[in-house]
Amino acid sequence: MIIGITGNSGSGKTLISNLLKKEYNADIIDADKIVKEMSVQGTVYFKEIVKEFGANILLENGEIDRQKLANIIFSNIEKREKLNSLTFKYVVDEIKKRIRLNDNKSVIIDAPLLIESRLNELCDVVISAIADEEVKIKRICKRDNIDENLAIARIKAQPNDDFYTKNSELVIINNDNCNLEKQVNSIKEILESQIIKNRETVIIQERNTRILKFKRLLEYSNIIEHAFTLKPLDFGSNDTYKKIQEIADNNYKSVCELLDLNSKNIIRPYQTHTNNIKEVCEEIGIFNEEFIDIDGLITSKKDKVLSLTFADCTPLYLFDKSKKIIGNIHSGWQGTTKKIAKKAIEFMKEKYNCNPEDIICVIGPTIRKCHFEVKQDVRDIFYKQFNYMDNIDDIIRYNKDAKSYFIDTVEINKNLLKEEGILEENIVDSKICTVCNSNIIHSYRKEGEKSGRNTAIIGLIN
Ligand SMILES: [Zn+2]
Repeated sequence: MIIGITGNSGSGKTLISNLLKKEYNADIIDADKIVKEMSVQGTVYFKEIVKEFGANILLENGEIDRQKLANIIFSNIEKREKLNSLTFKYVVDEIKKRIRLNDNKSVIIDAPLLIESRLNELCDVVISAIADEEVKIKRICKRDNIDENLAIARIKAQPNDDFYTKNSELVIINNDNCNLEKQVNSIKEILESQIIKNRETVIIQERNTRILKFKRLLEYSNIIEHAFTLKPLDFGSNDTYKKIQEIADNNYKSVCELLDLNSKNIIRPYQTHTNNIKEVCEEIGIFNEEFIDIDGLITSKKDKVLSLTFADCTPLYLFDKSKKIIGNIHSGWQGTTKKIAKKAIEFMKEKYNCNPEDIICVIGPTIRKCHFEVKQDVRDIFYKQFNYMDNIDDIIRYNKDAKSYFIDTVEINKNLLKEEGILEENIVDSKICTVCNSNIIHSYRKEGEKSGRNTAIIGLIN
């Protein structure tokens, strides 16, 4: 496995590399170290730098004054780009060579410009470290023994958190180095899950709070905020809600803090596998009587955070990018047979005059055909409802040995969305099975009655 690690100066990426090295018995390829080695007198790279930046960047002993060079490039974007393109030319080749020479072992590429140099394309997974600005400034001043203004200039010259989130599979928020070892240990289960191989999503982790985001929705991160929570966060089921209300409330708080949303704006209905959709318009609390027997929420209101809980059922995130309308739909197997996906789109068309071609639908983690095995009775319900679909023979597969059936509810939901005019390219499937990934996602099928609940959240912010 090739793991790429990147992030701003002071985000703690080197510490993460070292901790992962132990865990994976991996070799670290340190891009900064390679650059240092390449920069000594006499190399082609050295000559090119002196040619570009002049002899006054040299120390008395004739070597490059790296501190001076850093100060130049962090205050001048043109010079920075020049140095970067010069460096990429040599360092990328060298890193590729080292990967080739490495026999079968896991490799960690630690590179501050991993994404900019396109080294990320060589990686099986990209991990970014991010940290608050004050934390980074403190760390840089201490490490490089420079004053605060220089540290601020360096950070300002580097990409923001959004850039790393959009270009990584895992983001570690590291404001607290002493907690890092514990975090890195838990990364192992993420790295070994199916999710990480899926470049459609990114996991964001801060201590015990772990969420999944969909890259397609991140393209609209200035308009909407969203998440699908992962273990160990647990939002309880309807029945246990009252009992674990306090825990759930605290979990909403930590997720909302991570997403920069107000947890007081959360709307959480009492879901009962219906196909009832409700528009969220007035001021209402976290759990309200009006929201009993509701399995779909739609709103045009900013600062209303739509939240539904799941353990295997299919979450559908809806977003009309032109009219700025959002929806959160709970399409379990019963909701699917009641065609709640279709009803939600009809609702958006009628109520808000949405054009289906503007609607993006993300299908979150759910039990899939690999694990959704049912007996004749349930199969009959599906067959009766959907036998008109062209690919019904693929959707329902008979398992002769167990006299059971495997059903692809995701494919049914896709068909229902297309029937309503949603474009194929706007149906984004996370391809994540909750049962296959029950180490980090709650799954009713796997864990039974005592299973916890994941939450799907979507809110308009602009
Ligand atoms: Zn599965």
